[in-house]
Amino acid sequence: AQNERDSLFIVLNFANEYFKKQLFDSDEGRSIGLSYFKERGFNEQTLKTFELGYSLDVWDGLLKEAKKKGHSEELLEKAGLILKQESKIYDRFRGRVMFPIQNVAGKVIAFGARTLRSDKKQPKYINSPETEVYHKSKILYGIHQARQAIRNEDLCYLVEGYTDVISMHQAGVQNVVASSGTSLTKEQVQLISRYTKNITVLYDGDSAGIKASFRGIDMILEHDLNVRAVVFPNGEDPDSFSRSMTSDAFREYLETNARDFITFKTDILTDGGKQTDPVKKVQVIREIIESISLIPDGIKRSVYISACADLLDVEEQVLLSELNKLLIKKQ
Ligand code: ATP
Ligand code: MN
Ligand code: MN
Ligand code: MN
Repeated sequence: AQNERDSLFIVLNFANEYFKKQLFDSDEGRSIGLSYFKERGFNEQTLKTFELGYSLDVWDGLLKEAKKKGHSEELLEKAGLILKQESKIYDRFRGRVMFPIQNVAGKVIAFGARTLRSDKKQPKYINSPETEVYHKSKILYGIHQARQAIRNEDLCYLVEGYTDVISMHQAGVQNVVASSGTSLTKEQVQLISRYTKNITVLYDGDSAGIKASFRGIDMILEHDLNVRAVVFPNGEDPDSFSRSMTSDAFREYLETNARDFITFKTDILTDGGKQTDPVKKVQVIREIIESISLIPDGIKRSVYISACADLLDVEEQVLLSELNKLLIKKQ
């Protein structure tokens, strides 16, 4: 119901204001949360733009304040902010830095929260559960801050994590959103396609990131958007990489290293062209034809087939006939 959604927005907004206040005004927030963000290189403006916050390391920090302001336990629970177990009731987010997740219009719909401990006893990030206003497969982190820039640049950078969005934004690249560690969905691609048909995927330079970028690329191709991808050195993500150089150098890197998906896949699968054995080559060709077969537009498919023929030095006719076999299978 509309009323229930409105109440959820109100209590989530209250929580967001509360977490921001703790970050700047409480001793614990300042000495732990704020210094953590400073160490990561986030400046004051960035903290404001992304409305970053801090949850105190106590059981009922938010709960107490919220009840004082007249928010019911039932509503707090529906918003994903508190947990109830038998007779116990307590804050979901404790002792973590807070990343509010906003919808396109800027309303807070959920939170991501990072622990500051490096023991592996608790998950690094925890998130709000699905609620009536938060469907994680339908939203992209940072879309509110990015949408105008995506339109202006006619390009959307897609990254894995919260901090990648934030660091890139601070480095002057504002057309960036994150899938927040889950595989890219159809709804998320459609969300981006409201603003641009061009996506550049910037996933982490590790095997999980590469796998995720392959899946993401296919999802994007299936929805008839144009996709490019950038590889980062092993172990780097857009956040760490952007902080290792000047903003200008980082933006230059993105522009000169964005490859079309065929070159990207070929490079990775052949280890930068070092692997040339025929068995591997066949595998690479199959992989790429599979991706091409997902593209709905026949003209685009044929352009990519030509490109693939050139790049991998195979007869275009052979590729076309393999592609057609795949297309027939799909019908
Ligand atoms: P940091 O730089 O703070 O370590 P990151 O964004 O580089 O964070 P990754 O491990 O690369 O972290 O994960 C990418 C994204 O996946 C995170 O930003 C977060 O949205 C999500 N994520 C990571 N770990 C978890 C987890 N344990 N539970 C839920 N989501 C997670
Ligand atoms: Mn990762
Ligand atoms: Mn990462
Ligand atoms: Mn990181």
